[in-house]
Amino acid sequence: MSTVLDENTTATTEGGGRGLREGAFGNARSLSCRECGHEVELGPSYACPECFGPLEVAYDFPAVTREEIAAGPRNIWRYKALLPVPDDIEQSPNTEPGFTRLLEARNLARELGIDKLWVKDDSTNPTNSFKDRVVACALSAARELDAKVFACPSTGNLANAVAAAGARAGITTVVFIPSNLEKPKQVNSAVYTDRLVAVDGNYDDVNKLASEIAGEEEGWAFVNVNVRPFYAEGSKTLGYEIAEQLGWRLPDQIVIPVASGSQLTKVDKAFKELIALGLVEDKPYKVFGAQATGCSPVSVAYKAGTDAIRPVKPDTIAKSLAIGNPADGIYVLDICRNSGGAVEDISDDEVREGILLLARTEGIFTETAGGTTVGVLKKLVETGQLDTSLETVVINTGMGLKTLDAVADRVGPAATIAPSYDAFVASGVL
Ligand SMILES: *Cc1c(COP(=O)(O)O)cnc(C)c1O
Ligand SMILES: [Zn+2]
Repeated sequence: MSTVLDENTTATTEGGGRGLREGAFGNARSLSCRECGHEVELGPSYACPECFGPLEVAYDFPAVTREEIAAGPRNIWRYKALLPVPDDIEQSPNTEPGFTRLLEARNLARELGIDKLWVKDDSTNPTNSFKDRVVACALSAARELDAKVFACPSTGNLANAVAAAGARAGITTVVFIPSNLEKPKQVNSAVYTDRLVAVDGNYDDVNKLASEIAGEEEGWAFVNVNVRPFYAEGSKTLGYEIAEQLGWRLPDQIVIPVASGSQLTKVDKAFKELIALGLVEDKPYKVFGAQATGCSPVSVAYKAGTDAIRPVKPDTIAKSLAIGNPADGIYVLDICRNSGGAVEDISDDEVREGILLLARTEGIFTETAGGTTVGVLKKLVETGQLDTSLETVVINTGMGLKTLDAVADRVGPAATIAPSYDAFVASGVL
């Protein structure tokens, strides 16, 4: 039996494992501890053996040019030189996410009184959320590590993305979700896999179960557990794309939803890498985090001026953001504070209003996570925390059809009429 995916071991040819091939992780050099800088070999490890801090991928980047990137495919693999994936990644079936629209949001900008505003719309990814980006990178790692099972604990969107990518890659998938998850998100996973497991508990319970299974079973790649460092790198592509689509510039301000905090942390990492590689001009930018009040441990810590994040029991309609014990929360605090940004939270009603605001100003139907981000953007303006004269990007990470119930009571037919012209005139709709 292969023991390839045991924690803190790296793939070897012992015991029948295939062994790592040359260039399996591209220009990645090692896994490096965010806390103490200790480096370990690339493999299915996620905690520092010295201090238990989180590991992240470190690279020896070659010179990369804008032209090389622009000549690549219109998906995240155009940035493959900056990701822990092999050079021949495009040969392996994947969902090819990314290169989603960056839309200038003139109506929303006018409504909120912001001079220049863009929406990065990730609802058009293959399974309609930004999670396709991270899963594409995790799938590559799972493949290179010769995993037998592709799995995740999920708040919904991740399960959708894992199930779809696993189907396309022809690998067994098992996805775990909280049993109270929205029905559309359950169906959106179950269409791709027979192994959707609903767990009676919240996400943090599901996550704990996943860690336990990862410890017991061999050959499982849990995308956000034992291959988390590779998974997390996928979020960098949001940052790369925004910069490229702005004409190789960084925005002045960016508003990003926070669940585990991984996405926000990696968008910041992407901007820093682009600066270091000379692909964009070095300039300051402010990072803002968005949470729903019913699950806002990072926002609470931000406002209290402390680094201590107190885990909470989530109670919000923004289920895709409902992580009560966010793994990267302290790094979100660091980034938002040091950049001059902030972390803010809004009520579920304001989340619903955020969904309708984006729909009615820009024709984009977002899910509750996007409602949270847009609603927080509005609150940041109203409270004077966001400088309306600066160029701002807001990320829409998901798709409204998955959380229909959030707004189903608020919108509907203006009238129900007989099929006649007179009835229409009488309805007063116009
Ligand atoms: C998972 C998710 C997020 C947040 O991701 P983290 O990296 O865990 O902070 C945001 N929006 C949507 C729609 C998601 O599914
Ligand atoms: Zn360490």
